[in-house]
Amino acid sequence: MMDALAQSFPWLQYVVLLVVGAALVGVERAWPRRPGQPETRARWVVNVGLYALGLLLLALVVEPLQTAAIRIGSLPGWGGLGAAPLPDALKVALGVLLVDGLQYGLHRLCHAVPLLWQLHQVHHSDEAFDVSTSVRHHPLEVLALTGLNLMLCAALGVPLLSLLIYALLLAPHSLFCHSNVAIPAGVDRALRWFSVTPDMHRVHHSVRMDEGHRNFGMVFPWWDQLFRSYCAQPQDGSERMRLGLAQEQTLAAGDVPRRSGLWTSLWQPFTRPPR
Ligand SMILES: [Zn+2]
Ligand SMILES: [Zn+2]
Repeated sequence: MMDALAQSFPWLQYVVLLVVGAALVGVERAWPRRPGQPETRARWVVNVGLYALGLLLLALVVEPLQTAAIRIGSLPGWGGLGAAPLPDALKVALGVLLVDGLQYGLHRLCHAVPLLWQLHQVHHSDEAFDVSTSVRHHPLEVLALTGLNLMLCAALGVPLLSLLIYALLLAPHSLFCHSNVAIPAGVDRALRWFSVTPDMHRVHHSVRMDEGHRNFGMVFPWWDQLFRSYCAQPQDGSERMRLGLAQEQTLAAGDVPRRSGLWTSLWQPFTRPPR
């Protein structure tokens, strides 16, 4: 049964992505948090184009590895969490928490290791912040992080069901966290007890480095609190703060920004110095 679930899982994930994505696009157009963001169409071509190339790379390279890693991780008697003397439901819940902790750690690594930052900065170079920003990742970053994540999950014996539940949780949550949806301040505060919100994650996209290196969490907000990387509000306020990379916004008059276009974004990691 688990194998059948694992096989149909990618399609289930895409259906969830499409439904949640379409709903959020509608809501962010009706109630935008930051009205008048930079034009949308060209950004969407780049962001969705990067996503499609990332998927292609995963299908070619990681899919076979993923299947193997998941199977190894789900074998009875394998070490780590899978073999812990705990009730199955608790192991699955702990597994979901563990995978989210790994995501947090890997995201911090992307900001700390120059080679990974070169790839990850493509995500940060978006000067607007909406649903499409969530899928703006360089394909090589997707490949590197998926590979690292799977190896760590297999080594820690994360149950297969935890991986599937987390993946189904992460995809729509990432769309939500990047959405330009206006959420009342009281609701945002309440949500932050157990979930990352758009106002919280937008701080991570600030052009200011002291804010850009905060709020690494993507699903649960507790890791940022625990490891002291939490920033509640941007200095300039959620509506006025500037987004993107600093070097893009310090161009001399007449200079043409290099951010536009899919090819430019693909080439970006090999042309920019680390921040
Ligand atoms: Zn980041
Ligand atoms: Zn982001």
